[in-house]
Amino acid sequence: MIEFRNVSKQYQGSVRALSDVSLSIGKGEFVFIVGPSGAGKSTLLRMVYRAETPTAGDVFVDGRNVAALHHTQIPYLRRNIGVVFQDFKLLPRKTVFENVAFALEVTGARPSDTRRRVTAVLDLVDLRARAKAYPNELSGGEQQRTCLARAMVNSPRILLADEPTGNLDPETGSTLMQALHDISLLGTTVVVATHAHSIVDTFRTRVVRVEKGFLVRDDALGTYWGPRGFNPLHDGMGDQ
Ligand code: ADP
Repeated sequence: MIEFRNVSKQYQGSVRALSDVSLSIGKGEFVFIVGPSGAGKSTLLRMVYRAETPTAGDVFVDGRNVAALHHTQIPYLRRNIGVVFQDFKLLPRKTVFENVAFALEVTGARPSDTRRRVTAVLDLVDLRARAKAYPNELSGGEQQRTCLARAMVNSPRILLADEPTGNLDPETGSTLMQALHDISLLGTTVVVATHAHSIVDTFRTRVVRVEKGFLVRDDALGTYWGPRGFNPLHDGMGDQ
């Protein structure tokens, strides 16, 4: 579903954000991308929906070379990819239902279809009872789950989440991560960049680690720190 072949990225006037990364992620997989701040995790995710393009190498989504897409094909690519970020923004004057429905309305969905799909996705993230609430009436976890519902309502084939639990307390973060994991069981490919090591360790799923732009570990049933565990001498206390 997602394939990186020898991908490097050099931002103008900056260090190399990614160096020769090769990675293949199948349909319905749930993958954590971990590594310290500045390692290249966001850059990696942003390449999947062509917010960035590689300086060298190729990124394929569903067998298509993303950098080679004509600009008229990019909206189609993005319609198949849901994105959730830490600094989520909901429209403050719209209810939970309306915020999620808005993502469908912009694609021209029929109102009856919209109602059915929004209700289904709010059920999935356990927010149906809060459908009429406004963002300022929601907890942080509820806001983030609304964002997740919004990212999923188009039934994307891929869901990318960048530090989705960054602003949440550990318990709410765990619940959100569980919701993301449940989504992958329905066939959506889910890739999550995170620092939340205690959550990563409870899942025992595939963990890909990047450091200074290099892919340094790719474990099928991984943990945040890998088999050798956390080593402060090697990792440095600033490493997260
Ligand atoms: P992470 O998500 O792991 O924190 P990023 O992908 O955001 O890492 O950043 C990787 C490196 O690329 C960092 O050194 C960062 O400063 C640099 N970088 C990220 N975005 C840009 C940009 N738009 N322009 C220049 N440098 C960038």
